[in-house]
Amino acid sequence: MNLTITIDDLPFARNIDSTSSTKLSVVNHIINVLEHYNIESLGFAVGEWCNDTADLKLLDLFYDAGHLIGNHSFSHQSIENMTLSEFESDLIKAEKILARWTRSNLYFRFPYLRMGNSPRFKYQAMQILSKREYRHTPVTIDLEDWKFDLRYCFACNQDNQYAANAIINSYVEYVITTSQYYYELAIELLGYSPPHLLLLHMNKLNGDCLSIILTMLKKVGWRFIPPDVALNDSIYLQQSSYLGDKGVSWLHHI
Ligand SMILES: [Zn+2]
Repeated sequence: MNLTITIDDLPFARNIDSTSSTKLSVVNHIINVLEHYNIESLGFAVGEWCNDTADLKLLDLFYDAGHLIGNHSFSHQSIENMTLSEFESDLIKAEKILARWTRSNLYFRFPYLRMGNSPRFKYQAMQILSKREYRHTPVTIDLEDWKFDLRYCFACNQDNQYAANAIINSYVEYVITTSQYYYELAIELLGYSPPHLLLLHMNKLNGDCLSIILTMLKKVGWRFIPPDVALNDSIYLQQSSYLGDKGVSWLHHI
């Protein structure tokens, strides 16, 4: 049971408006927790969200702590609202902004995990990625943590500690049961347990819960591995055969 932690929507998720000091404290906390567990994670940044110096500092902190940063597009639009050439320009625009944080390998994650609404479009989008030497980085354990984060931030803003604690408890249980679900689904579909890619977002909820989540995941048998090790598994080299247009786990694509 191996998994890699991936974190979308760097420098900071836009679920709600957060102050610069909240963002800084969340990012610092997440970095400290990852360090405590000796985890190298892979974050995905949105070009358009890297404007002010406070946001750039968050990326610097994450990068300097030894984590990888990938391209999550410039505008964070869903690909079905774009032409292929718009997709490519958007990718390149983000690439230029993020160049100072990307290392020798380039990683890309589609916003909302959506890859296009026809096999031909999807194939051509993937061709654009490989032409620019990106490693497409899907997700196998697809968590909707942002839904919990919305409710959690609302409860915190209302100073409703009781509600906030209840959301934390249900969120932690949700992470553990969802991870177990995808672990079992992979065994059923593939006959073995591949290294999983777990999706989190850079948000306040994860800032407050990451330590409990990692402790619980470890307790039920998960081991944390670096992104490059996970992505070497053959399932991440396969073509998608998923015909729908939703953002789904990679297990449904192969
Ligand atoms: Zn995103």
